[in-house]
Amino acid sequence: MICRPSGAITNFQPYLEKNPRPGDSWRNRYKSLCLHDPVWYDHMPYLPFPEDWPVFTPKDKMGDWLEAYASIMELNFWGATEATSAAFDPDSKTWTVHVTRDGKETVLHPRALVFATGAYGFARWVEFPGADTFKGEMFHTSAYQSGDQYRGKRCAVIGSGSSAHDICVDLWESGAEVTMIQRGSSIVVRSDTLMELGFGDLYSEAAVARGVTTDKADLIAASVPFRLIPDVQRPIYDQIADVDADFYRRLTDAGFQWDFGPDGSGLMSKAMRTASGYYIDVGASDLIANGEIRVASGAGIDRIEPDGLILEDGRRIGADVIVQATGYGFMDEMVAHLISPDVAEKIGRFWGYGSGVPGDPGPWEGELRNMWKPVAQEALWFHGGNLALSRFHSAHVALQIKARMEGIATPVYCAP
Ligand SMILES: Cc1cc2nc3c(=O)[nH]c(=O)nc-3n(C[C@H](O)[C@H](O)[C@H](O)COP(=O)(O)OP(=O)(O)OC[C@H]3O[C@@H](n4cnc5c(N)ncnc54)[C@H](O)[C@@H]3O)c2cc1C
Repeated sequence: MICRPSGAITNFQPYLEKNPRPGDSWRNRYKSLCLHDPVWYDHMPYLPFPEDWPVFTPKDKMGDWLEAYASIMELNFWGATEATSAAFDPDSKTWTVHVTRDGKETVLHPRALVFATGAYGFARWVEFPGADTFKGEMFHTSAYQSGDQYRGKRCAVIGSGSSAHDICVDLWESGAEVTMIQRGSSIVVRSDTLMELGFGDLYSEAAVARGVTTDKADLIAASVPFRLIPDVQRPIYDQIADVDADFYRRLTDAGFQWDFGPDGSGLMSKAMRTASGYYIDVGASDLIANGEIRVASGAGIDRIEPDGLILEDGRRIGADVIVQATGYGFMDEMVAHLISPDVAEKIGRFWGYGSGVPGDPGPWEGELRNMWKPVAQEALWFHGGNLALSRFHSAHVALQIKARMEGIATPVYCAP
């Protein structure tokens, strides 16, 4: 969370972070996590990764890079500082932000407040009927560290997004008996194929050799209007289905349900429209296809019993451990929590641009809802997304705030 102070414009811009060190949000994630996107897509603004950086960054390396970045860029980072509430005064046009810093209450009065609390809301915990009778361990993926202590245990992982796949592999590598519970179909694309057909033209070693740097690639990618993105993406996914026909046949045979989105336009379309996930396959899908990781697909959970789960179609999955890979809520939860439910309602949902597909809050705006632009609440900004979107749009947020501070008119597009 970034607070721009009131009064004279100074370099004093506290970056409030409830964890002690920059990068802890990565360090705190499960041990086996590596970025699923290649390095050319992940660079930070102004300070790209060194040339010998791995293609897929391990999560602690990412955390350490962020810590070094904060230091080199001289960010005024306030660690162990949690924002607990924020209110805007329309007369003085300032915020009152209450923060707890190292256990001490402090109040800030910035003129602009940026929520950079991630692309989602809180961890989504589902209260399944009968959960209180379960004799084993049950937790959300956000609390998962490693599979070390689950050797020989029957582990059921509820969900089929990225974290579900990664955690299934980690548990399997630790010697657990793993079942993924997949309620509905998921987007899965092999990493190698995506690198070649999806990222290749813009974000790859070959692209850099052709002079398409990450900065140029960002401009090219952003030049495609949302209305046209599905038409650009669909042929790529047709090709992926063709090239990897055997891979998808094996997944289907194993009982795993996959798709490329309601209109076949793939994973970035899905993320933009619904802020929901997919899996870029770095190994889990083969284990599913080979039956090493079992999959129980096509039904939700009816109830939990002392030693397992019962699916809506009556199937029984024995389990000593249940992992809820049920994702995260929406960003408006953060607004309701820190500011007020009224302001959250006034602003509305985040992500989506009115594509008409299920899960996109609509209506058609031609731009993403509420991201990196003025919202229905004055002096409030939202920044989030993957590393690539964050890299590209952070400058837009900063410039819009700066322009307002300098009194420069900044008319913005809005639906007629
Ligand atoms: C398991 C997993 C895998 C991912 N893999 C990738 C990937 O491969 N590539 C990719 O680009 N993205 C990936 N992402 C998305 C990833 O979250 C973002 O790319 C990146 O972390 C975004 O950085 P951020 O700073 O916007 O959000 P975050 O890293 O989520 O940081 C938000 C910060 O806000 C802090 N915060 C929240 N509330 C408060 C408060 N009230 N007061 C103070 N501080 C607060 C949190 O402690 C947190 O550190 C992944 C996410 C997850 C969960």
